Amino acid sequence: MSRVYNFSAGPAVLPEEVLKEAAAEMLDYRGTGMSVMEMSHRSKAFEEIITTAEQDIRDLMNIPDNYRVLFLQGGASQQFAMIPMNLMKNRVADYIITGQWAKKAAKEAEKYGKVNRIASSEDKTFSYIPDCSDLPISEDADYVYICENNTIYGTKFKELPNTKGKTLVADVSSCFLSEPVDVTKYGLIYGGVQKNIGPAGVVIVIIREDLITEDVLPGTPTMLTYKTHADAKSLYNTPPAYGIYICGKVFKWLKAQGGLAAMKERNEKKAKVLYDYLDQSRLFKGTVVPKDRSLMNVPFVTGDADLDAKFVKEAKEAGLENLKGHRTVGGMRASIYNAMPYEGVVALVDFMKKFEEENL
Ligand SMILES: *Cc1c(COP(=O)(O)O)cnc(C)c1O
Repeated sequence: MSRVYNFSAGPAVLPEEVLKEAAAEMLDYRGTGMSVMEMSHRSKAFEEIITTAEQDIRDLMNIPDNYRVLFLQGGASQQFAMIPMNLMKNRVADYIITGQWAKKAAKEAEKYGKVNRIASSEDKTFSYIPDCSDLPISEDADYVYICENNTIYGTKFKELPNTKGKTLVADVSSCFLSEPVDVTKYGLIYGGVQKNIGPAGVVIVIIREDLITEDVLPGTPTMLTYKTHADAKSLYNTPPAYGIYICGKVFKWLKAQGGLAAMKERNEKKAKVLYDYLDQSRLFKGTVVPKDRSLMNVPFVTGDADLDAKFVKEAKEAGLENLKGHRTVGGMRASIYNAMPYEGVVALVDFMKKFEEENL
């Protein structure tokens, strides 16, 4: 068996310890005689799995008691509709457009109400985060929406927007649990787990209790109403049980690493190796304004599409996988999530140095 360094943006690398534990428990989960995939979601064993997972993410993120944690399905993309269906009481919302995911979310919300695009960085191919200190927040906006870490473009909000008292909603799919957060600054935080937490199929929603109501838009399906899942503690119907089990293991792993403050330190150290190299390279160039750089997704280019393709191919042969940039932007992208070891980033930079020498 040999594992590669996997720089995929998602589904993405998971901690090896977690995979080994899951493998060891595959045939017989703790004396139940079955795998977690095969057991009832109403069983005692699964109840303990989901309860423990919730408690662990609460501990990690320091989630206050007046917020609920929901384990849902449908991916991050389903939230693009679920958020307006549940929160658009006035049928107005403000969106900050920092990339494809925010754009898609805004477009979906438009099906349900008026969407004001109050800021955008599209003028420079989403290579920066707009100044959000004094935006024209709509008086009757039900919420202000951001995509906090832009997976495709490699930007991150280092400061949250001034929402002037309006509820902040954030898609944190690609920066979930990568650093400490102040949950009280948000009304709703959500993310698909397949970027930085677990296997595809689970989306985690952290929502303030006062936003969970029966007063949703007419026609909202039962399954797309937050209250349904909050009341049933994420067990209204069969949840993505195995995915939740793996997420739970990742939460334990994060705790063992020292929690989110320790992860932030590690992630900064990892990202610095790559950004420092990019900043002095004569061949490769980072594409993001330095102050808005993501710790998780690092896009870079040579400026020559053929050379980019050669790099991706040769990197793969050297055991550095999935470095091709998003299909809409080209170039390269290294996703260096929590589970990417420091050694993986060093191996990438060593390979880039060698490639630079050979191709300059
Ligand atoms: C990947 C991604 C999505 C889409 O996730 P799905 O689970 O595939 O719907 C949305 N937002 C961000 C920031 C992402 O990185």
